[in-house]
Amino acid sequence: MTHTLTLHSIEPVTHDVNRLRFDKPAGYDFTPGQATELAVDKDGWRDEQRPFTFTSLPGDDFLEFTIKSYPSHDGVTEQIGKLTKGDTVLIEDAWGAIEDKGDGVFIAGGAGVTPFISILRARDKAGKLNPCTLIFSNKTEADIILQKEWEAMQGLGVLFTLTDEDKTRFRSGQIDKDLLRETVAEWEQYFYICGPKQMVKDISATLTDLGVPEAKIVHEDLG
Ligand SMILES: Cc1cc2nc3c(=O)[nH]c(=O)nc-3n(C[C@H](O)[C@H](O)[C@H](O)COP(=O)(O)OP(=O)(O)OC[C@H]3O[C@@H](n4cnc5c(N)ncnc54)[C@H](O)[C@@H]3O)c2cc1C
Repeated sequence: MTHTLTLHSIEPVTHDVNRLRFDKPAGYDFTPGQATELAVDKDGWRDEQRPFTFTSLPGDDFLEFTIKSYPSHDGVTEQIGKLTKGDTVLIEDAWGAIEDKGDGVFIAGGAGVTPFISILRARDKAGKLNPCTLIFSNKTEADIILQKEWEAMQGLGVLFTLTDEDKTRFRSGQIDKDLLRETVAEWEQYFYICGPKQMVKDISATLTDLGVPEAKIVHEDLG
């Protein structure tokens, strides 16, 4: 079923990511980690649906998305970055993707952190962050989505790693076997991975090498 949402606010989260809040249709339901197909309600764009993850909590009276714009694609995300209050978008029902199966290590690359926003906010609200860990890889510090919010979450272990910038207070390089061995204290937990396809593939293989059973690796790539 298609729903029309009206934009209440759009605010920058980083240099290329915006937080958008819309009114929530009565009865609209999703679970943290789920996504929907979204299209901009403007001539020429209504048939261009793209998947985006809800970053609000199911109990909030608004629907929030956290969306990275790629102007070089001349696509939907560029149009989303240009929306203003009162504009409308079209969404479908919520579907699949990643869900919270239990305590875990949440491994994200760039905009791949979006399913973990709602999941970890829900855990924060319920006081259930300990013993979860977020390992978040980005090109540079300026790309880190919600850096301060992650750092402020009581009980959440947080490790940022930067691939294209050297900064003493951050780890450098990609998420590899050494980094996982040093960071992960509890190997019986779930391992949630979300990011570019190759990153999800590589880290899944690394975790398998490290002895994590397939059933404990949860992933959905961002295409
Ligand atoms: C389940 C799921 C949930 C997601 N949730 C989120 C979310 O919450 N937030 C978020 O920010 N993203 C999310 N994404 C990613 C998001 O869907 C994509 O960023 C979005 O589809 C890109 O749309 P676009 O129209 O801007 O570009 P595209 O559809 O990627 O491309 C539009 C055009 O640009 C071309 N193009 C593609 N790549 C390039 C390139 N590198 N250079 C030049 N041209 C190119 C394409 O060929 C196409 O013609 C999610 C993805 C999935 C699968």
